[in-house]
Amino acid sequence: MSNSTHIGSTSLSYIDDKKKKKASPILNRVTPLHYSYISQLLISSLKEQFSALFSYCLSIMGEVLKKEAYGLAVKDESGVISPFRFSRRETGENDVRLKVLFCGICHTDLSMAINEWGFTSYPLVPGHEIVGVVTEVGAKVTKFNAGDKVGVGYMVSSCGSCETCIDDQENYCPKMILTSGGKYYDDTITYGGYSDHMVCEEDYIIRIPENLPLDATAPLLCAGTTVYSPMKYHGLDKPGMHIGVVGLGGLGHVAVKFAKAMGTKVTVISTSDRKRDEALTRLGADLFLVSRDPEQMKDAMGTMDGIIDTVSAPHPVLPILDLLKYKGKLIMVGAPDKPLELPVLPLIFGKKMVVGSMVGGIKETQEMMDLAGKHNITADIELISADYVNTAMKRLEKADVRYRFVIDVANTLKPSP
Ligand code: NAP
Ligand code: ZN
Repeated sequence: MSNSTHIGSTSLSYIDDKKKKKASPILNRVTPLHYSYISQLLISSLKEQFSALFSYCLSIMGEVLKKEAYGLAVKDESGVISPFRFSRRETGENDVRLKVLFCGICHTDLSMAINEWGFTSYPLVPGHEIVGVVTEVGAKVTKFNAGDKVGVGYMVSSCGSCETCIDDQENYCPKMILTSGGKYYDDTITYGGYSDHMVCEEDYIIRIPENLPLDATAPLLCAGTTVYSPMKYHGLDKPGMHIGVVGLGGLGHVAVKFAKAMGTKVTVISTSDRKRDEALTRLGADLFLVSRDPEQMKDAMGTMDGIIDTVSAPHPVLPILDLLKYKGKLIMVGAPDKPLELPVLPLIFGKKMVVGSMVGGIKETQEMMDLAGKHNITADIELISADYVNTAMKRLEKADVRYRFVIDVANTLKPSP
């Protein structure tokens, strides 16, 4: 026993000696600096683990705090719209949550629904002409309060620091996030206004003037700013100018109203005579041309300072270019899915310009909205219930709408069972 104890102790002390022999040169070299370094490593590793745990808890809390939402979505290229349940993020410190009251149906919703431009991701909850009432604001929100009447247009975020953002043209920011069918920072798809509520950073929210009816104001969030922005930018907002508007649909009829409010002479260029009376009487246009009547088009050659082309389908450009005066500008806002044929000689001989334009920046959208408030400009709408949306899309495809469908979201959109 003692022997074995002895052997054991001998061998243990032997190992201890060996350890000491081996360890001592290192231990001798460990200074207080090393201890501090090691403890820092330990602390930072603990910090990392704690921070990971904290983020994990936050993400779980985020999931819990996410708000259930319901709406209408397109699930595939058939374009058929059906009920859809999803969730919206919690109200962040810079966010505004709104109950959606009304949402316009832009032709872009139709093009996106059927993947006409090739970049739609499904499920798509369309809608970027949104008007609602604020229900909740984040801790750092300064511009809005619960109860305010507000609107959301084509975008819900942008980088805020690039050349275009600094220029108040967030609509051209390469990182701009679409209201519907875009990708948010957390990699989720953005869902638009065919839904019961929305969350949006306060910097992308538009205030609605008190005097405007909310349903007929919704289309201004896209159609209004899309025509207002290029008219201002290209100096086509001066009294006495002659402006042409091609296509009397959602964008076109609002363009007529803004152009008249700016004091210009306005000619509507439409595919048929069907809308002549309304254009001249109700909308206040000065002249009306049928684009498919070469005689009428010829008589108006060289008379216009600028033309806003809102046509959603391929169409001949030459007769439209011919309507422009020397130095006239043709602004393309309509987005046909196929290229248009652009004859160059009329551009060269007339020093004419063809340019494009996409919606408007937040600052100019607010400016447009305030001008609309001042002149009582709203869209002419057909207010529809949520269950009419598929029929509305079919009618929109045939340009059969006077002049914008608006969904009565709050009163007619119900959650699917
Ligand atoms: P809309 O209500 O359908 O109006 C388009 C109008 O174009 C129709 O009312 C029709 O006017 C005319 N039209 C249709 N098919 C035609 C054809 N084959 N040939 C000639 N004219 C035709 O559409 P919207 O909502 O105003 O949108 C118009 C276009 O602008 C769409 O392509 C949309 O995607 C695009 N958009 C662009 C922006 C942007 O930022 N640039 C913003 C919003 C929308 P007439 O009956 O008078 O002929
Ligand atoms: Zn639009």
